[in-house]
Amino acid sequence: MADYTQNLDQPVRNALTANHENERKLTFLERLYLPEIFKGLAYTFKTMFKPDVTMRYPEERWDPPAIFRGRPVLVKDNGKERCVACGLCARACPPLAISMQASETEDEKERYPEFFEINMLRCIYCGFCEEVCPEEAIVMSKDYDLVFHSRADAIYDKERLLMPKEDLKDRLDFLKDYRNKQFGKFWNYKEDNNIHSVRNRDENWDTGLSLVDILEAKKDSVQN
Ligand code: SF4
Ligand code: SF4
Repeated sequence: MADYTQNLDQPVRNALTANHENERKLTFLERLYLPEIFKGLAYTFKTMFKPDVTMRYPEERWDPPAIFRGRPVLVKDNGKERCVACGLCARACPPLAISMQASETEDEKERYPEFFEINMLRCIYCGFCEEVCPEEAIVMSKDYDLVFHSRADAIYDKERLLMPKEDLKDRLDFLKDYRNKQFGKFWNYKEDNNIHSVRNRDENWDTGLSLVDILEAKKDSVQN
């Protein structure tokens, strides 16, 4: 039976590393190291005059393009959240990061989230919440530097999630373009259609028309 005990006073060379036959032999100059050091310094000196490819974060900040998916935020439209607390985003969220409680409101949208929270420790920035939201009420922002001091700190409530739609213009424009390209043939997505309630269209609530009929009537009036 092999003896695996080690003699630490006289360590045996590892047989796997003792064979150096494939190792390149260094020339005399290389063995001096100085020429290689000067070559390295010359390269550093040359690079000093090339344009910077890095930023001095956080003094300099990167402004991501509209396609970038930063932390999800709730869209604030005319001082209120667009969200109607339908729960689709929470349902679609793979790591179950979203929780909310729906409640009724006198506003035309009829429902609103009494509380709305995203656990940013769970969020994987997949954008599924944005994808499924029927109201464009949750979108991916350009915010990428999140810092928490505790686990509780990482749970963003409505106050911290709400962002005015004017600050999200890039992303909302991008979504409009992207969705039109994706669904335009059979959906014809328009921000105009992104309504909260039939009452938005049927202001007097007395036409008795269905939503589709109201939209058709509006289309006809625009054409005529
Ligand atoms: S981006 Fe993805 S993980 Fe984050 S809240 Fe939305 S659905 Fe959940
Ligand atoms: S999918 Fe949109 S409207 Fe529905 S609960 Fe989520 S954010 Fe609100």
